[in-house]
Amino acid sequence: MIVSNQWAVVQDHSRVFQDLVYVYPVISRRSRGLSIGINLNPDKRCNFDCVYCEVDRKTPGRALTVDLIQMREELIWLIRYALEGGLATQPKFNEVPELTRQIRDIAFSGDGEPTMVPNFDACVRVAVEVKREFGLATTQLVLITDSAGLDKASVKRGLELMEANQGEFWCKLDAGTEEYYRLVNRSFVKFERILANLLETARARPIVIQSLFLKINGAVLPPEEIAAYCGRLNDIVQGGGRIREVHAYTVARPTPEPWATRLSAGELEAIAVQIRERTGLKVLTFD
Ligand code: SF4
Repeated sequence: MIVSNQWAVVQDHSRVFQDLVYVYPVISRRSRGLSIGINLNPDKRCNFDCVYCEVDRKTPGRALTVDLIQMREELIWLIRYALEGGLATQPKFNEVPELTRQIRDIAFSGDGEPTMVPNFDACVRVAVEVKREFGLATTQLVLITDSAGLDKASVKRGLELMEANQGEFWCKLDAGTEEYYRLVNRSFVKFERILANLLETARARPIVIQSLFLKINGAVLPPEEIAAYCGRLNDIVQGGGRIREVHAYTVARPTPEPWATRLSAGELEAIAVQIRERTGLKVLTFD
């Protein structure tokens, strides 16, 4: 079944469901169905400050740390609720009841960067154990990351655990040059560290590159930036890394910065065509 971005349940990216702190359901186009998100940043911390970020950091987060016991209980409750049909009765989810009983993935995502949590491997272990308890053999474990923390020891252990349990690694790369990276992602982390982390991670296992392209002051990504971006992807592949595919998308809603705006479907596809031609990689677009 094709998941449409016209559905209200797909447009709703809320990470709050009932009174749960760590866990939330979404119908995701990229997951092609129900994704159970685990918010490892209820404190809203991130080491990026993307111009398109939708996290409201003016209001305080719902918790300062990740309570593993509560996280486990919430995950068990939500999975059972979905499997038994409760989610199918909820507003928006009742548009697509047939999608709510099959859990396509459990995704580490949230209101910040999941790899910033100090005990990432312990968080993964909880998800692995709950997934096994429910016999969810085909449900994937997805990490959605800005790649800045992929070199941390606890994260590396978590990645290995994920890999042994249907792991998928969706790693952000929005730029080809340090300058553009500073403009769009506004991070204090060096661009070369991001690139080194991507290479090391992709050498160990296939990764998916997630790239958000947008207009800055009305201008699409300059040709030299696209060329540099493709060069970074080619560097990873030529360095022995495996990129399973590239997900190219654009902003879905108005961004906090009025000068950062969405691409049309045609503009996004034109960039995807260039990436395919310059890298030979599979590129999917999500406008
Ligand atoms: S990496 Fe994600 S959470 Fe962090 S600033 Fe960027 S969009 Fe927001």
